[in-house]
Amino acid sequence: MSQTYSQSQGARSQGGMGSQVQLQSRLHGLRNNIQNIQDIANDTTRACTIAALDLEEIGDSEKVSEIDASLRTLIDAQHQLEVERTLVTRLATQLDSETAENEYMTAWKQNMNKYEKTSDASKYGKNNMYREFRQQIWDVKHEGEPMPNLFDGEQGSDDSDEDLVIEGARVNYRCPVTATWLVDPVTSKICKHSFSREAILDYIRAHGGACACPVDGCSNRIKPQDLYADKVLERNVSRHLRQLESEETAAQYTMVQ
Ligand SMILES: [Zn+2]
Repeated sequence: MSQTYSQSQGARSQGGMGSQVQLQSRLHGLRNNIQNIQDIANDTTRACTIAALDLEEIGDSEKVSEIDASLRTLIDAQHQLEVERTLVTRLATQLDSETAENEYMTAWKQNMNKYEKTSDASKYGKNNMYREFRQQIWDVKHEGEPMPNLFDGEQGSDDSDEDLVIEGARVNYRCPVTATWLVDPVTSKICKHSFSREAILDYIRAHGGACACPVDGCSNRIKPQDLYADKVLERNVSRHLRQLESEETAAQYTMVQ
């Protein structure tokens, strides 16, 4: 912090530089605000998903479609925020450049034009959050069946947003630590792997406060602060267990007959 202090002192003695430093710290503040809004958007998505699952279960597909449309709007807004965050970060380091503002506007317009021309298959079909949402909704009535393509031309699209492509991993309802059904599941924000809350917290404690993810082949670290209570997954586990139970009952009934 002492370095920041001496920088701003020096800046003030050079006249116009003082407002530049102020602007710089405002840009940093703005970047943090954007990050907060992105976190809120993720929480909102989870809440929407739970509501949509309720609606899908009672067969109100019209309301599910409304939530679906809202989520897409949210994804568009999140894309804008992500671009803003990148540009604001860049701008904060270029304040002495006269052309910084022009560059900002040019980059912004270029990015938005490109996004507008992108197909829905790319905008939403490759969005992990959206795919998860649609997968959950699909599983309410079609558990165990593969989800059909969400968009025309979803496969064979040739744009190179490699980092947006998700692996087609299916949800596993067992905890990797206990190998039994997930209880009070938590999911890592970092690697998206899920665990029974008590089991993973004990496991982390036993490894001194942080550990390698216990899932085979995952090289991420697991820390308590990166875990969130996964209410959507909790619902899905209960539904899965209810379904197994009813299948079992049906099998017993058949045997008795
Ligand atoms: Zn992991």
